[in-house]
Amino acid sequence: MVASEAHPFAKTGGLAEVLGALPDALARLGHRVTVVLPKYRGVECDAAGDAVTFSLGGRSQSVTFRAQWLPSGVTAVLIDAPELYDRDGLYGADGVDYPDNAWRFAVLSRAALEYARRAGERPSVIHAHDWQAGLVPVYQKLQFSTDPVVGGVPVICGIHNLAFQGVFPASTLSSIGVGWEAFDLQAMEYWGQISYLKGGINFSERITTVSPTYAREMLTPELGFGFDGVLSRRAGSLTGILNGIDFERWNPAADPMIPAPFSANALSGKRRAKEALLASLGLPAGGRARPLVGLISRLTSQKGMDLMEAAVDELMALDLTWAMLGSGDARYEDLWRRLAAAHPDRVAVTIGFDERLAHLIEAGADIFLMPSRFEPCGLNQMYSLRYGTVPVVRATGGLDDTVTDADENRGPATGFKFREYTAAALVSAVRRAAEAFGKPREWKKMQQAGMREDHSWNASAREYVKVYEGAVEAAAAK
Ligand code: ADP
Repeated sequence: MVASEAHPFAKTGGLAEVLGALPDALARLGHRVTVVLPKYRGVECDAAGDAVTFSLGGRSQSVTFRAQWLPSGVTAVLIDAPELYDRDGLYGADGVDYPDNAWRFAVLSRAALEYARRAGERPSVIHAHDWQAGLVPVYQKLQFSTDPVVGGVPVICGIHNLAFQGVFPASTLSSIGVGWEAFDLQAMEYWGQISYLKGGINFSERITTVSPTYAREMLTPELGFGFDGVLSRRAGSLTGILNGIDFERWNPAADPMIPAPFSANALSGKRRAKEALLASLGLPAGGRARPLVGLISRLTSQKGMDLMEAAVDELMALDLTWAMLGSGDARYEDLWRRLAAAHPDRVAVTIGFDERLAHLIEAGADIFLMPSRFEPCGLNQMYSLRYGTVPVVRATGGLDDTVTDADENRGPATGFKFREYTAAALVSAVRRAAEAFGKPREWKKMQQAGMREDHSWNASAREYVKVYEGAVEAAAAK
């Protein structure tokens, strides 16, 4: 597997969670997995490594491979090139991408192939995730097609969010050592520029994404972000598999970050978590009886923050308490700060990234809100289900696949959904949830139904194995 982030080494979002958990789950099924990623600043690794130098587009680059064996049996290979990766951020600073990202991630892809070649053992498949690893199959096909180790190995392109496409000027091609034959609509060309993700899609044997609904949505002009045509041509090779969640780190029965354990059959610890959350946020304990709505989110329009902005007056008119943790666009950070200032006894806002508070919100909130415009899979709604925190979500992507509304015919209700991307639909779903909270028996049934669902990685890993096996069989039949 090749990716730009993986738990526990580097994380900005859901991608790292997948790259942390899927390899472990595959290892438990008996597979051998190597994860290749950059060694960013702060990543601990004292393993001595092998230094190699390769040349791309006439420029030479030295990297050191530092291999680490994780307790699960997975091998992590950190690409050490301090001038490229030893920086404050993974992708940029102060909201601006690093100007050499095209080179930084070309090196990642090229180095991953080099590592495999030197290890000398032919992998069954290579899974290259998101645009940062998009050049893996491009280099493989254009430079190493006859290589005895990596040549002909099926590559799977994993798409975690189609909004990030790795688009660079066409002139980049020569500097990363890719010939002009790739400047073609069927290859990497994208509106006069090039896209690493498009390269990943067009040069891979299979494509995976992170939920069945998102796999369908990405074929539409609304959510295809200009890639609906490319992906529609590859629809037969595209599979949507829901992410799992880490059932050990996100387990209310054994979570060191919450005050008391709880489970579907013993929910009283959840009350303690709510009290602790209110106290730690400086909200009055008297608000205990009022439903507490949690949000943990990047503050962007993808996450529905524009909808929140439009709905805010009506939402604040409801008798609810709010706990919001997140960071992102200044405009939405300001919106939340204003709300906290206007309603200090009912709205608590924490701007930043805070794992511990995230766990306490998941445990202590009654309702969890995710009004996303689109959501490839989404993790927080699954954490919420596990913690008995009833999710209110927009019916898109993985949110639609993982939350069941009472008006659907597919099993016990676990949450509330709205379909139209409008303020009115959002408010109406939140209102329904608040009303249901007032009926304790029904509410508890809903909490328990969610808590008993199995969103662990085991089932997802088996689905991935099927895709890998299909790709291997197709390659053998060629
Ligand atoms: P995305 O990857 O689009 O941001 P996901 O729901 O798939 O959204 O994953 C987000 C992950 O990052 C979750 O594990 C979530 O708990 C975590 N997260 C997001 N924002 C914060 C924050 N401000 N503090 C702590 N954790 C956060």
